Amino acid sequence: MPNYTVRKVKLEKTEQLDILARASGKLYSQTLVSFWRTVRKKGIWMSGYSMERWQISPLLHAHSSDAVTQCFFASLKSWRKRRKTDPSSKPPRRRRWFFKLIWKSAAIKLKGNKLRLSNGKGNEPLIVNWRWQKPKQIELGWNKASQCYELRACYTSESVKSVESNGVAGCDLGEIHPMVIADGVNTTIFNGRLLRSKRRYQNKLKGKLSKLIDTKKRGSKRGKQLIKTKQKQLAKVKNQIKDIEHKLTSKAVSMLKEKNIQTLVIGDVRDIRKSINYGKKNNQKLHQWNFGSTRHKLEYKCARVGISTLLETEEYTSQECLSCRKRNKPKNRNYRCSCGFKFHRDGVGSNNIRAKYLGAAPVVGLMASPSGVRFQTHLQCNPVA
Ligand SMILES: [Zn+2]
Repeated sequence: MPNYTVRKVKLEKTEQLDILARASGKLYSQTLVSFWRTVRKKGIWMSGYSMERWQISPLLHAHSSDAVTQCFFASLKSWRKRRKTDPSSKPPRRRRWFFKLIWKSAAIKLKGNKLRLSNGKGNEPLIVNWRWQKPKQIELGWNKASQCYELRACYTSESVKSVESNGVAGCDLGEIHPMVIADGVNTTIFNGRLLRSKRRYQNKLKGKLSKLIDTKKRGSKRGKQLIKTKQKQLAKVKNQIKDIEHKLTSKAVSMLKEKNIQTLVIGDVRDIRKSINYGKKNNQKLHQWNFGSTRHKLEYKCARVGISTLLETEEYTSQECLSCRKRNKPKNRNYRCSCGFKFHRDGVGSNNIRAKYLGAAPVVGLMASPSGVRFQTHLQCNPVA
């Protein structure tokens, strides 16, 4: 069994999709009924092969029809195996109104940005917008949770790895950590402690000196002196902050270059400040959160070394499970999901941003736990960055 990587795409419910899913359900039920009828009446257990030639839907591609029949026989087979250890297990007997659809390689064509899924001669093909490479096989099923159809495109993992996943990294800009970068295997957290303490100091200084200036008479010699001091000291801290940001972003870009990353997907946080009120304390934090300048530095430094950057909306990226897409709110440093997935909470966002752009979940088994980069005065960088 080759290893598959799956890309999931949601499709809105349409009449065409309903008709196809119903045709598939009808075929599945027919197969099931005919099979059990032959068992009952003639005592014969038909093989999948003879059934395939018999059961065909006029609305589906011949290979898609075969695949539905194969699904029934696959569940029959797994029941017969299960029965050996668990005598109470039940065979597949339930009829289906709707059933998943499967397109095999021969029925899939990619033309420009459109994927054309053939439903056999005389039937309207299914057209899907597609910005990725051609999949090996496609399954389409109903997603109960989000009340829409979900298309699952399967790739052999080698083909995905070599063509696109490799070379794409996701970046999460944040308040606690200025940057977290994920490339599908490694997640790197850039430590922001020094940056935070500088910003806190900047605030304190501003407040302290402003207060002092207020006590002096406007235009007095002492007052003027103090204003000058304030400007001078603030400029110094500002430069220090700028310097740290430069060093961190340069380090990040040289790291990306070393890993041969071609595309950096940055989480878009521009709306956060405008739209939501987080309360007085958090608002202040957010207003000082300099993701704009960090992002800008990252973007132009990436451009210099030929890495393209783009923005991806950040919605739910810190909450969604990387393995099963369920949303959870992490309670402590660890992100945990009921499906068994565990990860350092700060690494979830960047991995999700990357997954969102690729339209595919990462291979969780390949992911290493995050490592950190701490700020040092002499962070080693590639000279080009
Ligand atoms: Zn999960």
